[in-house]
Amino acid sequence: LQQNLARAEGYLARFARDGVLNHIGGVSVAADSGETFETRSPADGRLLAKVARGGASDIDKAARAAKAAFRSWAALSGADRRKILHKIADGIVARADEIAFTECMDTGQALRFMSKAALRGAENFRFYADKAPEARDGQSIQAPGQVNITTRHPIGPVGVITPWNTPFMLSTWKIAPALAAGCTVVHKPAEFSPLTARLLVEIAEEAGLPKGVWNLVNGFGEDAGKALTMHPDIKAIAFVGESRTGSMIMRQGSDTLKRVHFELGGKNPVVVFADADLERAADAAVFMIYSLNGERCTSSSRLLVEESIHDAFVARVAEKAARIKVGHPLDPQTVIGPLIHEVHEKKVLSYFDIAREDGATLAVGGQKLGGEFAGGHYVAPTLFTGATQSMRIAQEEIFGPVLTAIPFRTEEEALAIANDVEYGLTGYIWTNDVTRAFRFSEGLEAGMIWVNSENVRHLPTPFGGVKNSGIGRDGGDWSFDFYMETKNIAFAT
Ligand code: NAD
Repeated sequence: LQQNLARAEGYLARFARDGVLNHIGGVSVAADSGETFETRSPADGRLLAKVARGGASDIDKAARAAKAAFRSWAALSGADRRKILHKIADGIVARADEIAFTECMDTGQALRFMSKAALRGAENFRFYADKAPEARDGQSIQAPGQVNITTRHPIGPVGVITPWNTPFMLSTWKIAPALAAGCTVVHKPAEFSPLTARLLVEIAEEAGLPKGVWNLVNGFGEDAGKALTMHPDIKAIAFVGESRTGSMIMRQGSDTLKRVHFELGGKNPVVVFADADLERAADAAVFMIYSLNGERCTSSSRLLVEESIHDAFVARVAEKAARIKVGHPLDPQTVIGPLIHEVHEKKVLSYFDIAREDGATLAVGGQKLGGEFAGGHYVAPTLFTGATQSMRIAQEEIFGPVLTAIPFRTEEEALAIANDVEYGLTGYIWTNDVTRAFRFSEGLEAGMIWVNSENVRHLPTPFGGVKNSGIGRDGGDWSFDFYMETKNIAFAT
């Protein structure tokens, strides 16, 4: 840990010295207002950097820069865009340690996950680099006396608004397909963890991305974010964050008829039937709620267990949860680090009182950690049992290391409980009965389902949610459906 802390100091020195500037039209600039805001480390509360606090005029400049750069970027051949995107991936790999260490200090996420997340960012760029040459491919549709040819075109400059939980990986996931499609970008990262977005835009320009193609404006949601969603030159908003922010963005974007793509919250069930491989199911359930501090949209925050095995299975999960290593994000052994911010910590802790008042039983955790952890936002991995479907801990997204176990008697009851929330992002089903697995998946209201597995992401597959968990899909060609317009040309024959 001491060695890693020293390395982190080295990576963070530039931010402490220079702060975090916006990047508009290829130039690093302070906010027009001259204002800044602070980003602090969730591990010990210390100041990491002063960040340019952009507002409407900075967004306006960035949108104009993205518009000015659009025509030539869109006109570049897919093969040329492919080359640049691969170079960006090379740049990410070359600076993967710097990215991972910076991300850990800015978000509180553990190094063991963030070093993978940095490399996954590079993979996202490689995947969409290779798809760039085919992004415009259309199809031909025959009719009597007519041949139709469809073509695809980048929609224009787009706004990308990202959350704080795994900001680097998520930014690459949204921006790589936009660039591959031929769009230009204005990125507004989350105010709680802005550091790695700055590294990313630098890497992109060092890789040869033309100036103005990718612009970065830091700031708060209610000013910079809002201005971006309302700007007439921005043709679409790709947003990852909370469901209620999604509703606000839809309202804000309505005057300019924004196309929106939303990846929102979740209250995802992991459903365990008695015939499952219970040891693997328990490991996966524990991994899917406690890794990434539970600050993960696809986390399995509800554990639905068949009644006949409920007590033994939940005891097994409780034992594993109690053993999880909580620690400094840069400690290689750490699984759970501090939560992002005191505001979020308060929210998570408030659910401990709510759960007790609603009558749930605390099996593990349930408190803020003191002692060596007192300076940071550390919360113990927590498991509630004896919960019912109507309790708030069974309905609301807590976005922390908090798992709610609920027993079920029949498959029908399990499905009813699983679907009885306003969200529908992911579901995890554990059973060795393949017919039931298929039947249950068909009935489950979720955009993504894993059977006998934790969340293992394969980039060509669609990613997104139903109900309040989102609108639209990412992944494979689906990202291009969002970032591109389809044109039909009919020829008389
Ligand atoms: P948030 O909605 O508070 O903020 C996300 C971003 O939106 C930030 O950059 C913020 O500044 C900006 N924003 C806030 N108000 C805005 C407004 N009025 N107009 C424009 N922009 C605005 O979310 P968060 O707390 O940063 O992130 C946690 C949430 O993100 C959770 O609900 C989580 O489930 C969700 N999430 C979803 C996915 C997914 O893929 N479905 C992935 C990660 C996180």
